[in-house]
Amino acid sequence: MKSVSTNKLSTIIILLFSLILLGNTKIHSSPNDINIVDTYGQLSVSGNRIVNQHGDPVALRGMSLYWSQWIGKYYNYDCIKWLRDDWKCTVVRAAMAVESGGYLNNPAVEKAKIEAVADACIDLGIYVIIDWHDHNAHLHQAQAVSFFKQMAEEYGEYPNVLYEIYNEPLQISWPNLVKPYSQAVTDSIRTIDPDNIVLVGSPTWSQDVDVASLSPLTGSNIAYTLHFYAATHKQSIRNKALTALNNGVALFVSEFGTCEASGSGAINATELNLWYKLMDDNIISWCNWSIADINETSAALLPGASATGNWPTNKISQSGTIIRSRLNSLNGPIFSPIEDQNQAVLRPSSIHQFPNPVQSTAQFQFQLLTPQIVRLEIYNLLGQKVTTLLNSPFQLGTYTLAFDLNNLPSGTYFYCFQTAESVEMKRLQIVR
Ligand code: MG
Repeated sequence: MKSVSTNKLSTIIILLFSLILLGNTKIHSSPNDINIVDTYGQLSVSGNRIVNQHGDPVALRGMSLYWSQWIGKYYNYDCIKWLRDDWKCTVVRAAMAVESGGYLNNPAVEKAKIEAVADACIDLGIYVIIDWHDHNAHLHQAQAVSFFKQMAEEYGEYPNVLYEIYNEPLQISWPNLVKPYSQAVTDSIRTIDPDNIVLVGSPTWSQDVDVASLSPLTGSNIAYTLHFYAATHKQSIRNKALTALNNGVALFVSEFGTCEASGSGAINATELNLWYKLMDDNIISWCNWSIADINETSAALLPGASATGNWPTNKISQSGTIIRSRLNSLNGPIFSPIEDQNQAVLRPSSIHQFPNPVQSTAQFQFQLLTPQIVRLEIYNLLGQKVTTLLNSPFQLGTYTLAFDLNNLPSGTYFYCFQTAESVEMKRLQIVR
């Protein structure tokens, strides 16, 4: 991480301020301008983290589609575009059914659905998980090897793609069944694509990441999927995650639900928040289950929600509402950074303020990848600092802090967020 001297910081703030006032700084108002994959580039695994092209840890966050053979209607370009633009997904998981009328019965039909999603994600500049959605994949190794070789041939050149090779093994042996299958499929992918991340499941519906971490696969850019349903899977499963991380493997929550493991039952907000904290603290990527319009709690949409996105709030379920809000809070700033045309030290935005306009209490949300001192200041239109909200050390993590701005009159302001890595200045409107 580069540090920036105080003098240089002052210069940057003045420069930023001038650029904003002159209208020369581009503030992205449309996510269409932002290609997340151009920003993050080729992902890889370094230690127990997934990192971007610069080696910085990053977390992708988005939605999983539902079993492709049962709800294939969302496997299309317009839906993926809506998930990027309105839900702020940086990743979408395409869950290709294998059994139960899936790929084994209709390989061409199911593969075409996955290709439609992968092509859309590449065009739209987000990541995509090609998921072999199977509970018995070790019984279908030849088919999986053949499928993933085709996928690697088609998509191995694109940094957008991650391969998830075994959705959820049942309660079977890691060393004797899941690991040999996973090694064989990974090795076959690597004969074609040397680098895109392979996501590996573990026994007990991808909960036994601790077991896998004691005897990981050989090879590079391999992460292990951890699946949870917040009302069923609690601290004992989080402990498995911590063990796996301590053993040095990277995790990716490619599927989680807000409710019970059945996909239904009540949402458990308390446990969900504990899971959020674990994922935020350890910069773990996630996809929520699922984009579906059926009558179950985990379905993000209500029956009849359009196949092509454009979902009004009355077509989004309680779970979907919670997750969409979370995605907008955490990923929204990634899609709308301030970009200095002189290409100063700005990085993708890591602070987000809401509501905006604000009447009295402003919330600021930011994520720190390393412990450091954070400064947050408010400037008026003349470029004069009117108040300092923060000048304190913080640990790694995601924070949401509230500040009372009642002492400032209505008007346009800018808030300046300074860390060791970046300086961000954004507009803040106070209206009473
Ligand atoms: Mg590649």
